[in-house]
Amino acid sequence: MTVNKSNRQKLHITDQPITLGNWYRHVNWINTTLILIVPIIGCVAAFFTPLRIPTALWAVLYYFWTGLGITAGYHRLWAHRSYEASRPLKIFLACVGGGSIQGSIRWWSSKHRAHHRWTDTRKDPYGVNKGIWYSHFMWMALKQNPKDSGRTDISDLNEDPVVVWQHKHYIYFILAFGMLFPALVAGLGWGDWQGGLVYAGILRWFFVQQATFCVNSVAHWLGDQPFDDRNSPRDHVITALITLGEGYHNFHHEFPSDYRNAIEWWQYDPTKWSIWMWKQLGLASNLKQFRANEIEKGRVQQLQKKVDLQRAKLDWGVPLEQLPVVEWDDFVAEAQAGKALVAIAGVIHDVTGFIDEHPGGRTLIRSGIGKDATAMFNGGVYQHSNAAHNLLSSMRVGVVRGGGEVEIWRRNSKG
Ligand SMILES: [Zn+2]
Ligand SMILES: [Zn+2]
Repeated sequence: MTVNKSNRQKLHITDQPITLGNWYRHVNWINTTLILIVPIIGCVAAFFTPLRIPTALWAVLYYFWTGLGITAGYHRLWAHRSYEASRPLKIFLACVGGGSIQGSIRWWSSKHRAHHRWTDTRKDPYGVNKGIWYSHFMWMALKQNPKDSGRTDISDLNEDPVVVWQHKHYIYFILAFGMLFPALVAGLGWGDWQGGLVYAGILRWFFVQQATFCVNSVAHWLGDQPFDDRNSPRDHVITALITLGEGYHNFHHEFPSDYRNAIEWWQYDPTKWSIWMWKQLGLASNLKQFRANEIEKGRVQQLQKKVDLQRAKLDWGVPLEQLPVVEWDDFVAEAQAGKALVAIAGVIHDVTGFIDEHPGGRTLIRSGIGKDATAMFNGGVYQHSNAAHNLLSSMRVGVVRGGGEVEIWRRNSKG
């Protein structure tokens, strides 16, 4: 009994099924407060808070800033090192990224590196294979078993003073950039303290969170896979529209250290545009880009895969290696006995059902029966179309030993 008891105590809560008695121990209360409880309070508060136009505009602007903090900062700069940023830009991104309430750069990037390394496996912290809601937010709302977390190398992040500073004081970033700063701008700017807190603060953070979560859920579920279809990431314009360009996720998983997610100029990727603009201003440098040749290779291979699948659905005739090998004399004998057999390029075709349908008339096709009609078929009488070649291959029934009559003659002469 004692052994059992101590074993039970050692069991992690996630090893026990969720019951009415223990469900609250499964919940990660800090995360749940930040991603569900406060946002719900914000939604309720919005009913009692009139929305003023300057506050609405400020909320949208602050959505772009804090969204970029995640996409250009947390994601493309720190998690993937797809470019280098100057100290002032890093501080700006650490502040506004902190204001989107998605954890510290250090925590976020380490989870994200694990997601790329173990995509769709047990160790993927938000693998869509565990369910779309799980990948969207349940992985944060519920406690995770430490045994399932894949290790990642974040030594570079531990050496970045901005990352270390933000991680150490993260709670203040939540308060300052999640709530105080947006309220301060609206309050000091046009006297709307409450609107600033509710709309530019909490509802804006709710929106940025949900948009980012969509990259983990929707972008692994909806859209095309132009570069690789072995894993779940997908490209879709809708995901791109709500995530400041992070929706070209199939490309991103293939080329994660590319500072772009959208490679076409007309695709929506304001994160890429911002990084490019910062480069022009001298704030960003060393923007990494995969060679177009490498990107095209992936695209062509994926196209080839799709074509091969379509090809496999069609009837191309019995494969040559599965056809019986027939002696030339037997072929001639069978044709003389009344079977409509024609030899073309060493392959015997049964044209019985096709004589009446032959576009060139019955006489011509009959003249090839029991003979080697290769030359007739390939231009001697008529240069047949590609479609005719395809159709012919669907009629093949045998292969002539040695390829044709000539071989027989050679064998006889040797004998
Ligand atoms: Zn992903
Ligand atoms: Zn990524």
